[in-house]
Amino acid sequence: MAYELKDLYATRHAATIQTLKSKDYANTDDWKRIIDDTRRLVVGDGFNVDHYKACEAIRKAVSAGVKKNVKATATMLTGAGLAKLPDRASAAIPEALARRVSALEVVRRLWLVKKSGSHKVWVLSLPDGYRDWPEADLAGKDYGGISALLDDATSHFSVSDRKHLSEATQEGLKWVHKAMIIASSPKEKKHMATLKRWIADDTSTDETMVAAAETLNAGLKKISTRIKSTFLLFTDMPKDRHDPANANTNAFVFKDHERLDVVYIEPAFFSEGDMFRDLKNWARIVVHELSHREAKTEDHRYRHHASGLKPDATSASFNAARALANADSWAMFCMDSGGRMTKSDYKKVQV
Ligand SMILES: [Zn+2]
Repeated sequence: MAYELKDLYATRHAATIQTLKSKDYANTDDWKRIIDDTRRLVVGDGFNVDHYKACEAIRKAVSAGVKKNVKATATMLTGAGLAKLPDRASAAIPEALARRVSALEVVRRLWLVKKSGSHKVWVLSLPDGYRDWPEADLAGKDYGGISALLDDATSHFSVSDRKHLSEATQEGLKWVHKAMIIASSPKEKKHMATLKRWIADDTSTDETMVAAAETLNAGLKKISTRIKSTFLLFTDMPKDRHDPANANTNAFVFKDHERLDVVYIEPAFFSEGDMFRDLKNWARIVVHELSHREAKTEDHRYRHHASGLKPDATSASFNAARALANADSWAMFCMDSGGRMTKSDYKKVQV
């Protein structure tokens, strides 16, 4: 699918920051505190972990309302500054109000998944009813239309999906660190053998391998820094939900055009159809995607290609230079460095 700037999460993020500047949000004590925290949470570089409580506070306000038979929509519109709820589904919702509630909606559907130590990732999990980002999807809808989305209690990523995304990132980071050890001392015999498996063809020499290892190491360092930073967001592309053309997509990133670090997790990510399964496959995908963003890799060849992933000097499309710029080669090198490849795995990718 072709995307426009408005489809990027980062574009909507910037709009959310602008919207939150509005003085028309509810000014009761409770809401004032929540809105202030929300403004501190949503920042230019992503989200501020110190103000995650804004997300929890909005969810809490909604669930407290539900317990008293107040629908989520009523609570959310009240927070967005609506004094009196409409009395019919066909009532128009002013544009500015829809925008204000959409900013709160993003924060309500946002999760910070923490693991041991400093490891944390953000997951934006919009309900299944959405077909676009809240700002776009809530725009122009009447009270009934807006209610259908705001009252949707589903979550695109389940609690266990969110946990798995966090674990995959942590596992990926372990591989990357082991790969950095190998790439930073390529002349050690065992290290050289691992490097050659993924990025050498018949014309490669020890000198070209040392240079290649340097390239790998520089990119891996950036990937590691990104995973360890306080902002890495997983979400999906809501407009691609139910697009059959998207069924086999694991994940993607906007390599050059998205200012924020966002990885889009798509339908095939959690499927069992890959040659690798579960944590091993999820970590592979995370490393693959981050290599696009941090090391500007391309998709020259995938692991399931009929000729495998062994670079071939006689192939202009997949020689050593191509492998060094290939996302799946980076991901597989990291999996291998992490000690997670079996003999049969090597056969599967023909290295
Ligand atoms: Zn890719």
